[in-house]
Order: sequence, then structure tokens, then C-alpha cells
Amino acid sequence: MSKLKIAELFYSIQGEGRYMGVPSVFLRTFGCNFKCAGFGMPKGELSNEVEPIAQRISEFKSYEELPLVSTGCDSYASWDPRFKDLSPMLTSDAIAERICEILPFGEWRDEHLVITGGEPLLGWQRAYPDLLDHPKMKSLKEITFETNGTQALTNDFKSWIHREWHHAGDINLGRGHNSLTFSVSAKLSCSGESREEAIKPDVVCEYEDYGYTYLKFVVATEDDAEEAIETADIYRANGFTGPVYLMPVGGIESVYTLNNRRVAELAMKAGLRYSDRLQVPLFKNEWGT
Ligand code: SF4
Repeated sequence: MSKLKIAELFYSIQGEGRYMGVPSVFLRTFGCNFKCAGFGMPKGELSNEVEPIAQRISEFKSYEELPLVSTGCDSYASWDPRFKDLSPMLTSDAIAERICEILPFGEWRDEHLVITGGEPLLGWQRAYPDLLDHPKMKSLKEITFETNGTQALTNDFKSWIHREWHHAGDINLGRGHNSLTFSVSAKLSCSGESREEAIKPDVVCEYEDYGYTYLKFVVATEDDAEEAIETADIYRANGFTGPVYLMPVGGIESVYTLNNRRVAELAMKAGLRYSDRLQVPLFKNEWGT
């Protein structure tokens, strides 16, 4: 039976992108190929806000106890190896059982599954067929992968999507191409990651063959918005056809509140979609929300 290292598994409302407002189970896998320490920092500088938290790691017994950060990646504990002991390795059986415990009616109804990270399309692709074929997951109808858009789909996973997700009972179960979403948060220079590593149009264009795919850029300034527009053009020049969202930076409410209206205006000016981060005003972006 397949196993996944799980940083968090919780039930909440999706606050971002296509499924904003939809009740959702969030499965946050452990591990990421990036560090994204530049969010919210002056250009060229990287956040070291996590360092003092990592030095006190023995004080924290669960994700809920970890401090929130206002700069850099706000889900740092889901990929920084120093926090790995907070993330158990669970079998697909245990994950499916736990999901049924947290769903309001003990089974899938209108809820959707968000597989997030970290970066959920790293090696964990090999484990998803086993989990998603589990008898307790059979009535699940919609999934989103929240990815940074750098990891190609493996041949085995592509075959499974095509065979089991798109076509196995697509009439009875309401599945099909549109029921699988790739929410691609491609990283701009404000993340601190190199453009060469972060922008992979070929990878993202292939996601479109397997599910509804959109780009979602985290922005704080007009420069970020300009870079997002230029970057979206690069994806389009390579064949990308999906929608593009701008979303305000803001792991904590005070930063989000400074940014959200400005980013909405920038999105309107550019004719792009705006994505809120409903989890920030609703739940203060606490772990498990
Ligand atoms: S890609 Fe996402 S999860 Fe990974 S470090 Fe960057 S913001 Fe965090």
C-alpha cells in the first residue's frame, strides 16, 4: 500500500482560485523543490524569519503551535527538513479513513479535494492512484493540485488520470477533464527563485491536456504585476490557453489588507482575474485553515 508524508490534513473552505468558497479537504504533502524566501521582502533580499522558529523546534508538537510568518513562504514547515518530524508518513488507507472522519457527513458529497504542499507533484505522484482508487474516495468528484508548475507529470500518473479519472465511469461519477484542476502558482522574481528554474511553460501546457489549468501569480507591487503579465505572455506563446489570476501576497492579515485592493485594481487594469485569499480574513491564515 502506498504511503504519503503528510504535513497537514484538514477540512476548510478553499480561499483561492477557481474553487474559492467551496468546502474542501486539504491534503498538504511534505517537501518542495523551492524555498521562496523573497515574498514580502525588498527586491533582492531574502527572509530569515523562519530561522529563530527552527531553533526552537523542540517546543512545537504540532503545526497548530507554529508561528505564522509575514515574509517568505507561509507554509515553510511543509518543506523545511528541520520540521519534518511534525509530518507523519501515512498509508492511503489511514488517509482515506481520516478524510471520512473530518468530512461533515462522513463521506464525500459536494466537497472537493485540494492536494497542496509544499510541492504535491514531486515524487508523491506515484502514491495518488492508490489513494484516489480507495473505496472511501470513490464518490469524490473534483480535485485540485496546487502546484508551482515545475514538475512534469509522470507517464504512470498520466496513464492513471486518463484511464481511471477521466474515463472510468465518467458519466455516473461526473468525472472527466474538467473535474481535475491544476492551480499553477508560478513563481516570479519576488519569490527569490531563479526564473530559469521557476518558469516551465512546457510542463504547464502539458497539465492542460489532463485537467483545467490556470496560472495564479502572487504579487505585491506594480512591478510584480508587470512581470506577471510578461510571464503569462511567455506561457501563452508556448501554447497555454487557460485563465490568469493575480493574488495578493499576505501570509498574515495586516500584509494582506495592505495589498488586496491594490492587486484587485492591477488585475482589472490588465484584464486578468483576481483571486482573493479568503482564508486570511476568515481564519487569519492559521495552520489548518
Ligand atoms: S513553491 Fe510554494 S510551497 Fe514551495 S517554497 Fe515556494 S511558496 Fe512555499
